Amino acid sequence: MSISRIHIHLCFAQQALTCVQKTHSFFKPCHFNRSLGKLGSLFKKRGKSVAASRSYKASLDRHQILNREQKTNSLSDLSKIWRISCNDEERAELKSYEGRRVVLTTPLYYANASPHMGSAYPTIAVDVLSRFYRLLGAKPVFITGTDEHGEKVATAAAKHKKSPLEHCDSVVEQFLNLWNKFGIRFDRFIRTTEKGHEALVSQFIQRVYDNGDIYKDTYDGLYCVDCEEYKDGEGLTENNLCKIHRKECVQRSEENYFFALSKYQKKLEKLLDENPLFVQPPERLNEVKGWLRQGLRDFAVSRANNVWGIPVPFDPTHSVYVWFDALSGYLSALFACEEEGISLDRLSDLGWPAEVHIIGKDILRFHALYWPAMLMSGGLQLPKRVFGHGFLTKDGMKMGKSVGNTLDPVELVDSYGKDAVRFYFIRGIVFGDDGDFSRERFIQVVNSELANNIGNLLHRSLNLLGKYCEFKIPVSSSAVVSATHPLRLTAESMAEKAKVCYHRLDFATACETMIHLAAEANQYIAYEQPWACFKSGEANKAVQCLVACLETVRIVATGLSPVTPEFSKQIYLSLGYPEEYFKMLFWDRDMKWGGLKAGVSFDRPKVIFPKIVSYEETLSSSLSH
Ligand SMILES: [Zn+2]
Repeated sequence: MSISRIHIHLCFAQQALTCVQKTHSFFKPCHFNRSLGKLGSLFKKRGKSVAASRSYKASLDRHQILNREQKTNSLSDLSKIWRISCNDEERAELKSYEGRRVVLTTPLYYANASPHMGSAYPTIAVDVLSRFYRLLGAKPVFITGTDEHGEKVATAAAKHKKSPLEHCDSVVEQFLNLWNKFGIRFDRFIRTTEKGHEALVSQFIQRVYDNGDIYKDTYDGLYCVDCEEYKDGEGLTENNLCKIHRKECVQRSEENYFFALSKYQKKLEKLLDENPLFVQPPERLNEVKGWLRQGLRDFAVSRANNVWGIPVPFDPTHSVYVWFDALSGYLSALFACEEEGISLDRLSDLGWPAEVHIIGKDILRFHALYWPAMLMSGGLQLPKRVFGHGFLTKDGMKMGKSVGNTLDPVELVDSYGKDAVRFYFIRGIVFGDDGDFSRERFIQVVNSELANNIGNLLHRSLNLLGKYCEFKIPVSSSAVVSATHPLRLTAESMAEKAKVCYHRLDFATACETMIHLAAEANQYIAYEQPWACFKSGEANKAVQCLVACLETVRIVATGLSPVTPEFSKQIYLSLGYPEEYFKMLFWDRDMKWGGLKAGVSFDRPKVIFPKIVSYEETLSSSLSH
C-alpha cells in the first residue's frame, strides 16, 4: 500500500473526527474505524513507532480544540464547510458569468461627514465580490459614490464656511483616499451632483409622474431635522423624540409630492413570495415581510424649500428628495459623467439590472421596498438581490463619536496594512450578522491564520526546497502528485466550496475553506517530515510532499486573492510567478491542481506576512512617529 493511501486513511480519520458524521454521508463512523484500523497495521508494517501515530492523533485533537475555539468566536465551523455543495442552478449560474457585465454596488454614502469604518466595511465586501467575479472571467462594474444633496450637506458646508459643492469635493477626496488605502478597485465613483445624474433623475421622476404614481398632498407631521424625515409611531419615543437622535422633533406641515407606494403592496408581496432570495440574508427578508404586513404608506419624494437639490421637472419650485435622487445613482453610474446620451432606455445595454446592492441594514426599507416599487413604476428591471449587512461594534459596544469608541479606518490600515484589515472584517465577521472589532481578536485572527498558518506553510516548504533542491521544482509539475493524494483531494473539494460561498456572499466560510486547506497541509508536512526523508534517501517522497504543499499554498493564495490581494500576490511572486500572471488569474484554471511548473527557480523565502507583535508595542511605535 502506497504512502498516499495512508494519507487518505489519515484524512478520512481526521475528517470523520472533525465532521458532524450524521450530516456528511461520505464520512461515516465505519470509514473512521476502518481507517484507524488500517492505519494501525500500516504503522506497524512501515516500522513507524506507535508514538508517531499518537502524535498525529494529538495534532488532530489540537485541531479540534482550535475549531471549537473558533466556534465560540462566532466563526463558521468546519462541519459547515463539508456540508456546502453547489446545486445545479448555482452551477449553471456560475458558468454564466464569463464575459458578462456584472453590476455590483455599495450604498452611495452621504457626503455630510468623513468616511468611517461603517462605510469602509460594505465597500471592502463589494471589492471582494468584484474581484471574485473578475476571477470567474466576468466584467464587473463596481459602483460606489456619494449622495451629495440635502439639508444636512448644506448645513455641514455652512459650518465649514464652504459652498455645498466645495464641501462635497473635500469629502469625496477623503473617500477616494480611503478606498485607495484599502486597495478598493471600483469602476465608477458616482457623485449625485454630476450633470448626467441630474439629467437621469429628471427623466426617471418625470416618467413615474407620467405613469400616475406621483401626486401632490399636504403633509403634517413631526420631523427630525437630523434624519431629514417625518417620524411616526415606530420612529418616535414616548416623548416624541427621534429614536435615532434622541432629539425633539418639530411639527411641520408642507406641500409635497408623494410616491404612491401603497399601490405596489400586492406586487411587492408577490415579488418576495416568488423570489425569496431577493432580500438577503433570511433575517432581513423576514424584517421586510413584517413591514409589508403592516401595510405600505406613500412617501414624500420632494421638498418645497430645499435649495441644495435637483429641481423637480414638473414643478421646479420643489426639489427632488433623497429617494429619487440617491437611489437613481445606481442607474446614472452606468453612464459616463457627461450629460449627453443619458436615457433610461439604454440601461439594459450597460449591465442593468444590478447583480446585488450591498447595503447596511439601516437602509433596508428603502432598498427592499421603495426602490423596487419605483423601478416597477418606471418600467425598469429590478436588481437581482439586495443584501443587508449588520452593524459593527467595537469591544462589544456601539461605535459613535459621543461614546468615544470610533474605529479609525485610516489608523487601522496604517498600523496593520490593508490585507490584515480586509481579512479581519471579511473572515472574522459572518457577513449579514452584526460584528465586533477588538484589537486582541483582530491580532489573534490575523496572526494565527495569515502569518502562522499560510505564511508559515509557504516559508517552511520553500526553505526545505531551497536546502535540498537548490530552490527549483525538481519535477515537471505539481500534476505529478497522485490524483488520490489527500491534499489534492481536499484542495479540489475546497476550491469548489469556496466558489459557491463567495457567490452566496458567505465570505467568512469562503475564507475558512482556504484556511482549512492550509492547516491540513501544515499537518501533513509535520507528519510526513520531508527533511527526514531527504536524509534517509527517500528524496522522491520528500519532493512529492513539498510540491504538494507549495501547490496547496498557490491554490490558497488564489482562493483568498479577492480578500487579500497583496498577500496573495506576494505568495505568487515567492513561487516564481511574474506579477503579470497574478493580475490575470482565472478561477477555473488557477484553482485547479497542477499549476506549479518545473523550471521556475525561487528566491530565498521572505517573510510575506510578518506577525503583528502586540498591541502595546504597536502603540508605542506609532506614538514615537
Ligand atoms: Zn433623527
